[in-house]
Amino acid sequence: MHQFSYVRPTSLEEALRALQHSPEALPLAGGMSLLSAMKLRLAAPTHLVDLAGVPQLCGVREEGSSLVVGAMTRHAEVAASPIVKRCIPALAALAAGIGDRQVRNRGTIAGSIANADPAADYPSAVLGLNATIVTSRREIAGDDFFTGLFETALAPGELITAVRFPIPQKAAYVKFHQPASRFALVGVFAAIDRKGAPRIAVTGAKAFAFRALEVEEIIRQHGLAPDAVLGLQLSAQDMNHDLHADAEYRAHLVAVIASRAVDCLLRVER
Ligand SMILES: Cc1cc2nc3c(=O)[nH]c(=O)nc-3n(C[C@H](O)[C@H](O)[C@H](O)COP(=O)(O)OP(=O)(O)OC[C@H]3O[C@@H](n4cnc5c(N)ncnc54)[C@H](O)[C@@H]3O)c2cc1C
Repeated sequence: MHQFSYVRPTSLEEALRALQHSPEALPLAGGMSLLSAMKLRLAAPTHLVDLAGVPQLCGVREEGSSLVVGAMTRHAEVAASPIVKRCIPALAALAAGIGDRQVRNRGTIAGSIANADPAADYPSAVLGLNATIVTSRREIAGDDFFTGLFETALAPGELITAVRFPIPQKAAYVKFHQPASRFALVGVFAAIDRKGAPRIAVTGAKAFAFRALEVEEIIRQHGLAPDAVLGLQLSAQDMNHDLHADAEYRAHLVAVIASRAVDCLLRVER
């Protein structure tokens, strides 16, 4: 690994100051992606600013009709949180299905969405629940956050402080996972918002998570109709292809997994 300095601030202000030291400084959350990237020399920060000692970035709370999850909240905490289970059980279930025990105990919600891995689970919840990304500078609508493969709307030195999820009427997450890593080959987050409108978001299938507008249209026209969703013929253009699954297979999987997610919506109370 190349040389870098390491600091562990104890407040948000101190963390932001430390990040301004150099344009090559990076925040460190759970380290599950960043440390591997550094070992492989895909990332070479000169300063690592460890956010683990910043209490303002931790914890989960209900705020009016929203659930607010602090940036440094670990996947295992989201999975076990009674507040998350009560407000958005599908989000707790999503977190429980990430990686393995070690990854869930280290990985954080902000690390996951800032990393914007095309196969990560949380991005589908950000879009499916119409979440807002709260940063040290502004609030970014979930629909505007993911901009490309491992790319987001975050500016250098901008820190995610929390993610605000409007509590839906009901939601469900279904993923077809890659068996070794448990990353999504295709994952679909389906939700009916407070006003009764459907939001269906897909991860794993393209360079970054996206809304499946065709599925939302089917639900608007026919209600929660899994068979109608299953019949969708989606184009394989722009779909990911790798050694795990080719583009045509992923296009087919999107319809299958979306249909299962819609079917789950029929069964869940919340
Ligand atoms: C073996 C393995 C299996 C996995 N399986 C899955 C899976 O099934 N599903 C899934 O979704 N994910 C999976 N992951 C990814 C994992 O869940 C982590 O979420 C992810 O690695 C990044 O989170 P982290 O907290 O470790 O962030 P880090 O690795 O510390 O950081 C990742 C990036 O985010 C930036 N960052 C961190 N915090 C902030 C912040 N507050 N503001 C701005 N930028 C920030 C960092 O600078 C870095 O660029 C897996 C990872 C591994 C190693």
